[in-house]
Amino acid sequence: MVGFGASPLGDEFGRIDRAEGERAVHGAIDQGINYFDVAPYYGRTLAETRLGEALVGKRQAVILATKAGRYGGDPGSGFDFSAQRIIASVEESLKRLQTDYIDVYQVHDIEFGSKQQIIEETLPAMCKLREEGKVRFIGITGYPLHLLKAVARSTEIDTMMTYCHYDLLNSMAAKVLTPVARERGIGLINASPLHMGVLTERGAPHWHPAPEEVLRAGRQAAAWCRQQGGNIAELALQFALSFEQAATTLVGMSKVEHVRRNIQLAEVKPDPELLRGVLKIIKPVADIHWIVGRPENNDPGSVPSPNTVGDLM
Ligand code: NAD
Repeated sequence: MVGFGASPLGDEFGRIDRAEGERAVHGAIDQGINYFDVAPYYGRTLAETRLGEALVGKRQAVILATKAGRYGGDPGSGFDFSAQRIIASVEESLKRLQTDYIDVYQVHDIEFGSKQQIIEETLPAMCKLREEGKVRFIGITGYPLHLLKAVARSTEIDTMMTYCHYDLLNSMAAKVLTPVARERGIGLINASPLHMGVLTERGAPHWHPAPEEVLRAGRQAAAWCRQQGGNIAELALQFALSFEQAATTLVGMSKVEHVRRNIQLAEVKPDPELLRGVLKIIKPVADIHWIVGRPENNDPGSVPSPNTVGDLM
């Protein structure tokens, strides 16, 4: 199932046409997309503001997910996982999103916090908001899979999201997170099926954290796909949608045409020959994962990259 990732509405992948962004949201709802994911961090509140404007009169038609704990600022800073900030943050998000409840409220990128604080302070604050009815469900998001798994085992969360972890370049979420999601009854959300732009014709944005060899493999796969008359983004989305344990697959969108195409693609299986060729190109870099957040939170075998502590989502 395709969900609407709203980070592009915050100009995270380049400046967008604001009116088109709004039409993309409306088109998505009209064509049956009902899950929208955003965060205060995307465009440093711009994405929430734009999504809130686009959802006026349509709030009841969607499941609205946002986050707290990550706000931006200098590389490696701009995080606050304190209970006080989590509680204040929901009020700010409600205002920007022009609503009086959040469906899914998530701790944003838990690898930048201390595991102890996330479990003993951040998530209890989220639980309190859930009890009060300000938010309906609570969850965690982040990159290192073993940290997500450990936190999921120690608290009553409803959702768990990772990104760039089930797509043509890396499929480790299936091994590490699927069992815990099933065991604990947690909705598993698969974000960034295009590897945050690597698996597109346009290529990765400047802040992308993947090491150069991964970016290069993405470019080679895109070129080969094009030569065969295919499109790497379309193949990548079709592949990611085959991850059946995912409750939703969040693809970042701000264009009417991408919404229309991505919904169509959900109905069609990937071309087996195209898929085989791309997987062959990607094989030498498959499952490479990068360092992000606090060292103690990283997955074993994480590699450094030029944007290691940089401006990640
Ligand atoms: P993505 O892999 O979905 O790629 C987005 C890029 O692909 C954008 O530039 C978009 O314009 C482009 N695109 C979309 N459809 C296309 C198509 N059919 N053809 C060509 N290009 C296409 O990356 P993402 O946006 O980072 O991830 C999706 C969403 O998941 C985010 O918007 C966000 O909501 C969520 N997310 C959350 C976290 C987190 O919580 N830590 C991290 C990453 C992503």
